Amino acid sequence: MESDLLTEYRSRAAGVIARNKSVLDILSKQQCAGAKVVRSVIKAVTACGCIGINGCKNPPRTGTTQIEGELCEDCENIIMTEMGEMFFYFVSLCNALGIDVAEVVRRDMSRCDMLGPYSLR
Ligand SMILES: [Zn+2]
Repeated sequence: MESDLLTEYRSRAAGVIARNKSVLDILSKQQCAGAKVVRSVIKAVTACGCIGINGCKNPPRTGTTQIEGELCEDCENIIMTEMGEMFFYFVSLCNALGIDVAEVVRRDMSRCDMLGPYSLR
């Protein structure tokens, strides 16, 4: 089911991308989109205040997200939009390189299952 969703999205992304078809454009747009995700999370903290970040030493495996509170609807919408943009360029990169995004997810799920917390992520 999820693979069907990724396959459908892959097809739509391939049909939509027009201006930034060059792999160089895709790479730079993906970087910009990633920066916008970070910026929108920071704005949820500094402009809206619906979440806070309690940054401190965070021990591996037992640590927390260090996020306090929950995203308000507006911030969640903004962050999800920016994540969608980032995901679009990630999928477009897969398309440009002839890589099946569903296979990327499958392989990484297998890696997660195999290495578990030892994947050091
Ligand atoms: Zn908010």
